[in-house]
Amino acid sequence: MKIAFFSTKAYDRVFFQQSNQQHDLTFFEPHLDASTAPLAQGFTGVCVFVNDQLDADTLTQLANHGVELVALRCAGFNNVDLEAAEQHQITVVRVPAYSPYAVAEHTLGLILALNRQIYRAYNRVREGNFALGGLIGFDLHQKTVGIVGTGKIGEIVARLLAGFGCHLLGYDVNPNPDCEALGVQYVELDDLLAAADIVTLHCPLVPTTYHLIDSIALQKMKPGVMLINTSRGGLIDTEAVIMALKERKLGYLGLDVYEQEGDLFFEDLSNEVIQDDTFQRLLTFPNVLITGHQAFFTQEALSNIAQTTLDNITAFETGTVPEKNLVTAEKFLRHAQSAQ
Ligand code: NAD
Repeated sequence: MKIAFFSTKAYDRVFFQQSNQQHDLTFFEPHLDASTAPLAQGFTGVCVFVNDQLDADTLTQLANHGVELVALRCAGFNNVDLEAAEQHQITVVRVPAYSPYAVAEHTLGLILALNRQIYRAYNRVREGNFALGGLIGFDLHQKTVGIVGTGKIGEIVARLLAGFGCHLLGYDVNPNPDCEALGVQYVELDDLLAAADIVTLHCPLVPTTYHLIDSIALQKMKPGVMLINTSRGGLIDTEAVIMALKERKLGYLGLDVYEQEGDLFFEDLSNEVIQDDTFQRLLTFPNVLITGHQAFFTQEALSNIAQTTLDNITAFETGTVPEKNLVTAEKFLRHAQSAQ
């Protein structure tokens, strides 16, 4: 198949070209949105990433250009209007799991770095400042961690934190028996928020989870709580979080994702003036650590993403896409809504 890749970087080309044997791949650097959709003319499929915008307008244009397949080279699909894709008979596929270890391990990295302020200690030592004032942390042992979303990534986070001797609380619309076996105690979201020393988010961004952590949820949390989001930026109301940081209600914030990340992440903007004042305000807090959507970024994950995406494209041609890799409005919107 002729596939147009959007939002590509050098590493995408390397991993996809290594694994590709039978498809005709063209790599474009721009994001896919309504203004760049004409680039897809003459292609039967597009391959997109987390910050491409496949809204109704973009999908209409893709359909008019003859695109039949959207292959997401990621797990999340919140950037695709699934109803519009269905109307245009465009099939949407994704890579539901490529390395949950990559994201779970990065989550632990954020927790440890924030707690022991490793990012501040690194700079102090380089400047010959060996004073410890302000660097005091806490033992993870015996602390209570609330895991919101206990699927593939949340389960591994639970497994890693169990190794630290943490008490684990879980909240999920579908509890995971493997987590229960690990000792995760499932509770209501409000009870998790009230009891946790650390809250870590691993649920998808869907209409019911948009701004799951808003000012009301923040009020329910313990003073000094640590909040970690390696899932999707829209799970958090950033303005409410900034207020909670200013009031010292929130003790630590670790983010790998940000609601408006599409204008920032994955680009070198070190010579630009960043226009997003909300993001810049976040960077002023000493107890905030942000990485630019890199939790997935391991050799193993990139290799698995390339292989599964190419397999999905081949399977689309033969009508054999595995059910777990198909993303449909029926499965993720209508069914999810009726389950609420
Ligand atoms: P998964 O589907 O295995 O698990 C998600 C879990 O969330 C499921 O158990 C589901 O039941 C639960 N859930 C759904 N709606 C919920 C709700 N309203 N409240 C609570 N729980 C709910 O997904 P995963 O592979 O574990 O990935 C989790 C998220 O991580 C993805 O949605 C994606 O957005 C994000 N992600 C981020 C990166 C990164 O690089 N930062 C990489 C991969 C995935």
